[in-house]
Amino acid sequence: MSFNELRKDYLLDRWVVIATERGRRPTDFARQPRRETKTSVCPMCPGNEHMTPPAVLVYLKSGSGIKRDKDTNDHRRKNWLIRVIPNLYPAFSPPKTKISRKQIVKNKNLSLAVGHHEVLVESPDHGGHPANTSIPQLIHVINAYVDRLRELSAKPYVQYVSIFRNHGLEAGASLSHAHSQIIATPTVPKTVAEEMVASKAYWKKNRTCAFCDIVEQEHDGPRFILENSKFTAFAPYASINPMEFWIFPKKHETSLLQMETSEVKSLAETMKTCLNRLKTLVNDPPYNYGFHLSLNREAADYYHWHLEVYPKLAVWAGFEKSTGVYINTMTPETAAENLRRKNTAP
Ligand SMILES: [Zn+2]
Ligand SMILES: [Zn+2]
Ligand SMILES: [Zn+2]
Repeated sequence: MSFNELRKDYLLDRWVVIATERGRRPTDFARQPRRETKTSVCPMCPGNEHMTPPAVLVYLKSGSGIKRDKDTNDHRRKNWLIRVIPNLYPAFSPPKTKISRKQIVKNKNLSLAVGHHEVLVESPDHGGHPANTSIPQLIHVINAYVDRLRELSAKPYVQYVSIFRNHGLEAGASLSHAHSQIIATPTVPKTVAEEMVASKAYWKKNRTCAFCDIVEQEHDGPRFILENSKFTAFAPYASINPMEFWIFPKKHETSLLQMETSEVKSLAETMKTCLNRLKTLVNDPPYNYGFHLSLNREAADYYHWHLEVYPKLAVWAGFEKSTGVYINTMTPETAAENLRRKNTAP
């Protein structure tokens, strides 16, 4: 008799049933028809800058380099390469006056959603998604992530900055123009907090970084996808999504703020290759991605930033919602085997 496997995440107390028996293949998902977001007038396209609040950051071409600027109330910058604007319907909003920790955290069950919620328009090209955009443009995107992370994380009421991307209607992107979102929060969100606690305990016990050890362990195993001199990509052992993959810097770094110029280029190349392979294999599926990082100086020894990519190919229903245990119908080994193939590279 053979069974599926119940696997636990490397660090989180999170379990997933992996369908090792009769697991599915990427082609099983590729046949699903994709829904397109309805497009009327796109507020993110060049020429429509007046439809959004003033940009807090724009990248403008300047000779062979980039000039950073921002909009004013009555003047919107044109000919931009990157544009970061406040979200019209923010989940977290900045305080109008100085606010203390005590005023934000009311009690253990209540805090005020003080922070920032921004939209990063990744390209003047409506369809300039990471899977098919140019490497120089993707470098601008990553540099803009870092710029916003630096500015937002310096604010006294900000404890965490989440940088994420929704791709496709089913993954929550109500507009199809290539964009990411940035949310700065007054507390460290649950998943990252749990990774921090677990990696701290691991460090105390082993005096090594749990994530460095995971990368080392996955680097020549069945879940390995690709590597270059700076980054490694692999499908995590207890993936909760079919085709899920994670990207780690090889150098031990706590947040994106520590990246060197050469690493930014390398990250752009790694992201483009992996996302393009996903797009090719599964017919441009909806997906979400999010960076995990730490802004806590104490975490420098044990926390290691990374990017997690979650393709949206399954529906989480009664079992997942009522138990917190997931069912993944594709093994991460199958996902990696397919994402590893070079013939699907751009
Ligand atoms: Zn557009
Ligand atoms: Zn590390
Ligand atoms: Zn993580």
